[in-house]
Amino acid sequence: MNCESCKKLSCVVRSEDYPKNCPMATSREVFEEARKIYEKDSETRRMAAEASIVEAVGYMQWPRLRDTIEFARRMGYKKLGLAFCIGLQKEAETAARILREWGFEVVSVMCKTGSFLKTEIGVPEEYTMYSKTGYLIGTVTCNPVAQALYLNKHRTELNIIVGLCVGHDAVFTKHSEAPVTTLIAKDRVLSHNPAAALYTYYWNSYWMKEKV
Ligand code: SF4
Repeated sequence: MNCESCKKLSCVVRSEDYPKNCPMATSREVFEEARKIYEKDSETRRMAAEASIVEAVGYMQWPRLRDTIEFARRMGYKKLGLAFCIGLQKEAETAARILREWGFEVVSVMCKTGSFLKTEIGVPEEYTMYSKTGYLIGTVTCNPVAQALYLNKHRTELNIIVGLCVGHDAVFTKHSEAPVTTLIAKDRVLSHNPAAALYTYYWNSYWMKEKV
């Protein structure tokens, strides 16, 4: 049993009647450690608290972009980073304009920055496709390490992901010094709404059929 299939939800109702394998029964040290971090790390404590306040104030009223703005405002961040994908440059431009209208300084950086070749970072030649539009974007790699280092150099206080590829988002997050939040999770097939794959899932879903 894992949390995802738990029906007791003892954590939600603060019951000590834990289901089998409940983390609260098997891993008490985790919660002691977490409590210490909230106590000792005032920034983490404040971030977690402000996030909950934003949730409460804007519940069922604000889209994620407004949640992001309000979280940044409440944290007192002035300088935000936008790490975006070339495929979502328009979205990044709109997001940057709105964030600036709200008074933030915005530093943005595109995934292809640096012009590194995919082969330079170990991508086999057969996976360096040319794009249908004729640009050579298939041969130039996304460069999430450079995106993070650039925003680190500018000392951004919160970095916002706009449509980075799966995996590149993980690399970016790993190397970002500022905390990272995602405004748009890339999904090329589902209008950047990855949850739609869950809502429309059945075993014979067309996207489930072939393994490559
Ligand atoms: S923490 Fe325990 S009670 Fe909560 S969802 Fe997970 S298994 Fe269930």
